[in-house]
Amino acid sequence: MRTAIVTGGTGGIGMAICRRLLAEGFQVTALFSRDEEAAKHCRDELGIMTLKCDVSRLDECAAAVQEVNSSSGPVDTLINNAGICRDAPFHKLSENDWERVIGTNLDGLFNMTRQVWDGMREQGFGRVINISSINGLKGQFGQANYAAAKAGVIGFTKSLALEGARKGITANIVAPGYIDTSMLGALKPETMMMITDQIPVGRLGQPEDVARCVSFLASRDAGFITGETLNVNGGQYLS
Ligand code: NDP
Repeated sequence: MRTAIVTGGTGGIGMAICRRLLAEGFQVTALFSRDEEAAKHCRDELGIMTLKCDVSRLDECAAAVQEVNSSSGPVDTLINNAGICRDAPFHKLSENDWERVIGTNLDGLFNMTRQVWDGMREQGFGRVINISSINGLKGQFGQANYAAAKAGVIGFTKSLALEGARKGITANIVAPGYIDTSMLGALKPETMMMITDQIPVGRLGQPEDVARCVSFLASRDAGFITGETLNVNGGQYLS
């Protein structure tokens, strides 16, 4: 049986990814950092293991992966999905908001991937799928920290793709546009309407739109695809 870890697996997109991988027959563990209520909801609804693990902390990532390796078997699939935003125009962006966003959205990838990489090399098989963002590709007003982290995700993943290729490990990126989750909760209704107007398909994305792409890239069938960015944005990048 395949064994997957989904960081941020208790959030909007993460839970849809967990659900999808579960349906594909994976053993899935969801990581979260704070929200015990959401973790309980995830456990109750999907019947999967959840582990508290702040991905910005290397020691917590090591402990979480060790626990999954011993309870579910060696991890062959890692979905680096945990992410936060702390938006502010650059002249007001605090050091703390820079560090928190880079710590979760970029350092988190190092901290988690480093824990599973040797095991994937030994197995001669692995799938690493990293969630970036349309704003990592094009930048966004008020998101210098978030866009920097999400752009970094792309360079990181392409390098892993080269290093993993001869070992049966693929590394790919899924870059969502605006997806209807609590991450958009801070946006005003008028901003939401403006955003939706900019999306050629005329709607926000749903978590399942992203989850379907992730599960395809995680499948054995996707073994000839590596270092790619799959954009899931309803055509927004075109407009
Ligand atoms: P949510 O806010 O719904 O979920 C975020 C998840 O990440 C939660 O499970 C949260 O758990 C977890 N998390 C946050 N910080 C940490 C941390 N330090 N360590 C471990 N887990 C953490 O967001 P989405 O589902 O919308 O976002 C998922 C990913 O998709 C993110 O990487 C985001 O940047 C990306 N994305 C989202 C878009 C959107 O429009 N929604 C657009 C483009 C990209 P807890 O609350 O317990 O910390």
